[in-house]
Amino acid sequence: MIPFLDLKAINAQYRDELIAACTNVIDSGWYVQGTEVRAFEQEFAAYCGTKHAIGVANGLDALMLTLRAWKELGKLKEGDEVIVPANTYIASILAITENRLVPVLVEPDMATYNLCPKNTEAAITKKTRAILPVHLYGQLANMPAIMDIAKRHNLLVLEDSAQAHGANIDGKKAGNWGHASGFSFYPGKNLGALGDAGAVTTNDDELAQTLRALGNYGSHKKYENLYQGVNSRLDEIQAAMLRVKLRYLDAEIVARRAVATAYISGINNPAIVLPTSCDEAHVWHVFVIRCDQRDALQRYLADNGVQTLIHYPLPPHKQQAYKEWNELSYPVSEIIHQQVLSLPIGPTLPLDDVQNIIQLCNEFKL
Ligand SMILES: *Cc1c(COP(=O)(O)O)cnc(C)c1O
Repeated sequence: MIPFLDLKAINAQYRDELIAACTNVIDSGWYVQGTEVRAFEQEFAAYCGTKHAIGVANGLDALMLTLRAWKELGKLKEGDEVIVPANTYIASILAITENRLVPVLVEPDMATYNLCPKNTEAAITKKTRAILPVHLYGQLANMPAIMDIAKRHNLLVLEDSAQAHGANIDGKKAGNWGHASGFSFYPGKNLGALGDAGAVTTNDDELAQTLRALGNYGSHKKYENLYQGVNSRLDEIQAAMLRVKLRYLDAEIVARRAVATAYISGINNPAIVLPTSCDEAHVWHVFVIRCDQRDALQRYLADNGVQTLIHYPLPPHKQQAYKEWNELSYPVSEIIHQQVLSLPIGPTLPLDDVQNIIQLCNEFKL
């Protein structure tokens, strides 16, 4: 079976360095909020081009705590509306509702699966205070257009960059477009820890300070608590693993791009819709195709030894968790959820396997 993503092979490339970094932390006797976290925060901020990176426990917390920080700073209040793409992974929306803010779901652009600027502008009301674009599948959303809308309507922008570490337009990277950005380092993400981890990037000093306090029981100074915070910190061990893997991120993106380029030039089947972009704006967290007969194609590939996944089978508005939205209609998102299929992609996927998958796709008949 060609696996969808071979995490074991990816991390095996760095085994010696990971073990050495881990050993250092064990021997240091210091496991939370120490030198590894500080160093990773500086290195990741430098990578993204931002002034700050603040380590947190996971990607959901990165988004949730940023919105919470804006509430504490008086920039958002309960009931304010936040525009978010209707086809995102549910975590983007959980971060909004957890803060008692109101998600306004907007149909994505069918060509990129990302937030559509035109639909975004049309969804703005008197209560809109923020936009939460998601760089879905690893492709930067249309940030120049989204930032222009935000500026004209005086809105905050929180990027969900969980799938898009390193994606850029003209060198300006995911995480450095909005007023803040949430990153996940879940093991399967393009920059993955060996457990849960996340970070917020921002150029805003006040926001960075507030986030540091909120993730540490609301404390800005030992035993003094400004806010009713939470415990959401990045561990030293995970920071040490991430420092090793950050050094190879750009090389891994190049390898992912080579797989994507091979698929795009090799797959030629009228039943399969390929992704449109192949430039720096896409780092290919997943390679998503569309097919009318998606389930048949998935079965056929599985029967021929290729594991695929669906990102995602059910849109957030159809989830039991948001049953109040179950009757709403988002036809573009619903078509996407019915038709998308993710082919194997990763920095260690052998090009022979890629050719094999291309041939299978081309031989697939309805
Ligand atoms: C993975 C992911 C998250 C959540 O990150 P965790 O670290 O798993 O909490 C949020 N948004 C998107 C788009 C994601 O893919």
